[in-house]
Amino acid sequence: MSNLKTLLITGVSSGFGRALAQEALSREYRVIGTVRNATAKAEFEQLHAHNAFAVELDVTHFAAIDAVIADVEQQIGPVDVLVNNAGYGHEGVMEESSLEEMRQQFDVNVFGAVAMTKALLPYMRQRRSGHIINITSMGGFITMPGISYYCGSKFALEGISETLSKELAPFNIHVTAIAPGSFRTDWAGRSMVRSARSIADYDALFDPIRQAREEKSGKQLGDPAKAARAMLEIIEHSNPPAHLLLGSDALGLVRQKLAAYNAEIDAWEALTRSTDG
Ligand code: NAP
Repeated sequence: MSNLKTLLITGVSSGFGRALAQEALSREYRVIGTVRNATAKAEFEQLHAHNAFAVELDVTHFAAIDAVIADVEQQIGPVDVLVNNAGYGHEGVMEESSLEEMRQQFDVNVFGAVAMTKALLPYMRQRRSGHIINITSMGGFITMPGISYYCGSKFALEGISETLSKELAPFNIHVTAIAPGSFRTDWAGRSMVRSARSIADYDALFDPIRQAREEKSGKQLGDPAKAARAMLEIIEHSNPPAHLLLGSDALGLVRQKLAAYNAEIDAWEALTRSTDG
């Protein structure tokens, strides 16, 4: 058995989850990964002779999560780091996208991460140690037309994550929201849910955005293997940050957003102050 930490990562079949698992296994961490079918389970467990464990779980099967976590803790061992990575992007103009699509987006990206965290916290709190990493997105800070549900879900996870970091600090449990820019994963390919077009008024705005995202899929700037190394640096750090951006695109766009936000706050400062007293 490895002396290093045990990671539980949701969604290890591809992308960031798989890259992080592979990098961690290469450093002799124990990695428990969630997958959604038996083929993916067998494939994941072949990554390492004795440190790779896979459990079948859809993170929206909320009623199953407590038992899965109890089983992991008892059968495999204490989880030191939970990485809430499972997620997907919904793309669609808001007026064209159903409420059911929004619910599904939030069920996976927000409720799934919260349910996993809630199931594991009693164990981490008892141990007075742990690290929860939530994979959010630069879309948890910046927005663009056509991904309102996705950005909404990632803004939500950023807010929950930062709040949680304050609630858990007394128990020596760290919480880090990691917000990647655009990376070469299956996110904009097989995993993306795209609402059908129905309102011609949006053609001029949205068609070029949809087309550009499809064309860019697989050619994004970010390398998931390098993201995995950065995540492990955060996992190995004694004082990890509450937020981390990954990628120069995320850095530039988020800085731009914060500067514009500040400028708007300044422009309306007098009206903002006018409601006191
Ligand atoms: P990916 O290659 O599509 O991987 C997504 C993983 O999540 C897959 O393993 C998938 O499993 C799993 N998953 C999806 N829905 C699930 C559910 N309901 N229950 C359990 N597992 C589920 O994409 P990725 O980019 O690595 O995505 C990982 C995270 O990074 C997501 O939260 C995404 O929003 C975020 N992110 C990605 C980018 C980017 O540019 N790639 C940027 C910012 C943030 P299956 O194989 O079974 O579908």
